[in-house]
Amino acid sequence: MTISRELLDILACPQCKGEIHLRQDGSALNCRACRLAYPVRDGIPVMLIDEADPLSPEDEM
Ligand SMILES: [Zn+2]
Repeated sequence: MTISRELLDILACPQCKGEIHLRQDGSALNCRACRLAYPVRDGIPVMLIDEADPLSPEDEM
């Protein structure tokens, strides 16, 4: 399952309200400003700060 471009345009980081970037494998949405990765579960982005994982250096593009 992929996330549509339209959905990505609407979504923003809940913490900084900034732009997020879909990880190449589609498994998460990265916020570079906050260094957080929001998980994508069953094609649905989980935009919760509590659910986000710290961004590892290799996730940054
Ligand atoms: Zn952010």
